[in-house]
Amino acid sequence: MEKNTLCIETKLVHGYRGFDPQTGAVSFPIYQSATFRHPGLYQTTGYDYSRLQNPTREELENTLAILENGLAGFAFSSGMAAITALMEIFSPGDHIVVSDDLYGGTYRLFEEIYKKKGLEFSYTDTSSLENVLQSIKNNTKAFFIETPSNPMMKVTDIQAVVEIARSHNILTVVDNTFLTPYFQRPIELGADIVVHSGTKYLGGHNDTLAGFIVVNDENISEKLKLIQKSVGSVLAPFDSWLMLRGIKTLGVRIKAQEKNALAVASWLKTNPHVEKVYYVGLPDHEGYEISKKQSSGFGAMISFTVRDIQLVEKILCGVKVIAFAESLGGVESLITYPAVQTHSAIPLEIRERLGVNDKLLRLSIGIEAAEDIINDLEQAMEE
Ligand SMILES: *Cc1c(COP(=O)(O)O)cnc(C)c1O
Repeated sequence: MEKNTLCIETKLVHGYRGFDPQTGAVSFPIYQSATFRHPGLYQTTGYDYSRLQNPTREELENTLAILENGLAGFAFSSGMAAITALMEIFSPGDHIVVSDDLYGGTYRLFEEIYKKKGLEFSYTDTSSLENVLQSIKNNTKAFFIETPSNPMMKVTDIQAVVEIARSHNILTVVDNTFLTPYFQRPIELGADIVVHSGTKYLGGHNDTLAGFIVVNDENISEKLKLIQKSVGSVLAPFDSWLMLRGIKTLGVRIKAQEKNALAVASWLKTNPHVEKVYYVGLPDHEGYEISKKQSSGFGAMISFTVRDIQLVEKILCGVKVIAFAESLGGVESLITYPAVQTHSAIPLEIRERLGVNDKLLRLSIGIEAAEDIINDLEQAMEE
């Protein structure tokens, strides 16, 4: 069966091969082997050593490729390991334009690790095409975009950025962690490369670290194959299997999470303690129309500011259903304080400019009953 003609819900459940062709096992087996016997001299089963190829990881990588409608997928031990591997396709002197509101760990990787190695980064609000255009230099090799952005939920028009990129011979990279291929497929919009923290929605259960790159170009794919086996930060067979298992239910999870998120965001909007709500699914959100154009859903990430700073601690310590913890995307609702957690690596003056201030909280909405999530926030605020 031609997998690419199937709907995304079906692709999620059945993966690339979806079962073990040898035994018929419906759950793709965990090939917990570091190495593989060769049938003879100059002969291979196609598997030599698990850093190079492993059947479980391969099933996962091919699954990611068909989900994102790309040519090839690569699985790594974390989202940061994936982005690190991706940086290895660039050379000293290359310039990359980056969304200014992005995951703090990515900012830290660029500033603390790759700047030293001669890569140049500019940070700009990529939701403004004017800014994107103005950031281009002679040595610009890539745009690195997070949309919706983390934690301010700014939406970048992927197709419009791709157009600018193509006319300047620049690659477009999209971190698609927040919406997943279920809601947004950047490669279909013209992007060259998609990266993911699989730790979040793809895994979905807050139990496994993983990262992915999906590419749509044979040349870049070959480069990444070499990088992946050389740097070695590959995803382990068991973790690959956990990802495959998580991905099967991504469709139902993220739909339920989005439904809850809309309920929670609407409630927050009417709450007198809340100053501003950032959720792309609210029609008055600045990026609402672009979201509707390029994504089939809005996801389940909400940021909001409280009027009184005292409420921050009250909420973080008072929630009982929601967990005060970093990360996002899992079935459990989490609340994060970006200024001191996920975005602490970003200098204060940049954070303030972006709006990542000390009154901002970020919610990752899970699949609990929306009513319980809302009641939990309410009791924490009132207590
Ligand atoms: C978490 C996250 C990362 C990093 O992924 P890890 O799996 O934690 O290494 C990168 N980008 C975004 C948008 C993230 O949320």
